[in-house]
Amino acid sequence: MLVLGGNEVALRKIRRLLAAGAVIDLVADTLHPEIAELDDGNRLRWLGATISNDQLPGHALIVIAQADAFTRDRMRAWGERQGVPVNVVDRLAESSAIVPAVVDRSPLMIAIGSGGQAPELARMIRSRIERLLPPSIGRLAAMAGSLAGRIRHRIPDLARRRRFLDWVFNGSPADEIAAGREQASQKLIEQALERDDWSGPGRVSLVGAGPGEPELLTLRALSRLQAADVIVHDGLVDARILDYARRDAELFDVAKRPGTGGVGQGGIHAILLEHARAGARVVRLKGGDPMVFGRGGEELAFLRAHGIDYEVVPGVTAASACAAYAGLPLTQRGMAQSVRLVTAHCARSIDRLDWAALAADHQTLAFYMSVGQLEHIETKLIKQGRSPQTPIALVENGTRPDQRVVVGKLQDLATLARCHGISSPAMLFIGEVAVLARELGWYGDALLSGVDHTDRAVAAAG
Ligand code: SAH
Repeated sequence: MLVLGGNEVALRKIRRLLAAGAVIDLVADTLHPEIAELDDGNRLRWLGATISNDQLPGHALIVIAQADAFTRDRMRAWGERQGVPVNVVDRLAESSAIVPAVVDRSPLMIAIGSGGQAPELARMIRSRIERLLPPSIGRLAAMAGSLAGRIRHRIPDLARRRRFLDWVFNGSPADEIAAGREQASQKLIEQALERDDWSGPGRVSLVGAGPGEPELLTLRALSRLQAADVIVHDGLVDARILDYARRDAELFDVAKRPGTGGVGQGGIHAILLEHARAGARVVRLKGGDPMVFGRGGEELAFLRAHGIDYEVVPGVTAASACAAYAGLPLTQRGMAQSVRLVTAHCARSIDRLDWAALAADHQTLAFYMSVGQLEHIETKLIKQGRSPQTPIALVENGTRPDQRVVVGKLQDLATLARCHGISSPAMLFIGEVAVLARELGWYGDALLSGVDHTDRAVAAAG
C-alpha cells in the first residue's frame, strides 16, 4: 500500500490502514511528528520525498493525502494502467476508489459510504452508530467467535441456537463484558452450555426515561429499552420513547388514571416479580429520574426483599430538564446557592413542609406535582416572609414540542397559572434565578408573562 503525504490527514489515514493490518510505503518530504512515531520500519516505511517508477509495483492501493497536481496525475495514470485503485482524499472526481467511514469494533466492522457524495454525513452517521455500540461489543463478538464451534455442537437446532445467542448478546454475558469482566462472561456462557439452560434469573432495570424529549435518554437507558422483554411504564413516559422497545416486547401501562387509580403499587410489584422470576429482562420505566419522587426506593426494597437482581439507570429529572429548556439556571452566583426539590402533591404533604425554611432568600425552590396547590404555595411563602416580588417560572410539558413557560412574580402565581390554563405536568420554580428565564429562554414559543398580560387575560376571561 502506498500513502502520499506527511500531514495530519495522512496521519489519520495511516493509523486506520495500520489498524487494518496494512503494510505501507510512505512518500512525503516532511513527516508529522506523530507519523514519525508510528514508523517502525516494519509495516510503515518512509521512502523519502519522491518515488521512482520501479518502486511503484506491488502496491494494491494508493492513498493520496497530500501531493501536487503533477504527482496526483502521475499516480492516477499509473493506477489506471495497472488496475490499482487510487484514493485522493476529499477529491472525488480524481479518485478511482473511495474510503468509507468505519465503525471499528473489531472483529465487528461497519462501513458507511455515501459514494463520495457526502463524506461529512457518513462521518456523522458513524458517530451515531458508535454511540449505539459500546466498545465492549467487539470483545463480545470475538468471544462468540471463539465459542462458535462448541455452541453449534451443543445446540444443533438453529432456532434454539438463535435464542441462546440472543441471550449471549443481550443478557448477562453482554452485561459482564460491558463491565470489563470477560472471564466471568465466558464462564456464564460455558456453564449455560454445560447445563443446556440459560434462562437464569431475570433482572429488573429501574430506568429513568427523562422528561419527554427522547434524545435526553441516557445511552444505557436506550440499550436497556431495546433489550427488554417486558416494559412496565408510567403515564408520564413519552410515547416516542416507547417506540424504542422491541416489537415483541410486552408493555404494561401502569399509569394512574382519573377514576381508576391504575393497578396500584401492589399491582406493579406483582408484575415485576412475576416476569423477573420467569427469567425476563424487565425494564421499569419511570418519567424523569426514578429516584426523585418516583417511588423508586419502594420498588427496590420490594425487589431486594424477594431476592430479585436489579440495577438503576438514572434519568434527567424534571427540575433540571425544565430549568435547562427554560434557560433558567438553578443556581447562579449571587442569586442562589442551593436548590431544593420539593413536592407539593396534596394538602397533607404541603402541611408537612417547613415553610419558614422554604421562604428563605437566595435559594431556588423546584416544586414537583404542584399545579393543584399553587395558591397554597403562594400564600404560605408570602406569609413566612418571602417577598411577593420574588420571580417565579412555571414550565408546562418541559422539553416537549408543546412546552410553555410562564414567568412572573410570586404574588401573581396562582392567577397567572389560571389565566394561562397551566396543567400537569408542570414544574414550578421560585427564586431570584427565575427572572433569568426572560433573557435566556431558548426553546419553544415566546414566554407567557407579566401582570399586564394577566390583566388582559383576566379581562378577556370575563
Ligand atoms: N421522577 C420524576 C418526577 C415524578 S413526579 C422526575 O424525576 O422528573 C411527577 C411530576 O414531575 C409532575 O407533576 C411534574 O411536576 C414533574 N414533571 C415530570 N415531567 C415533566 C415535564 N416534562 N414538564 C414539566 N414537569 C414535569
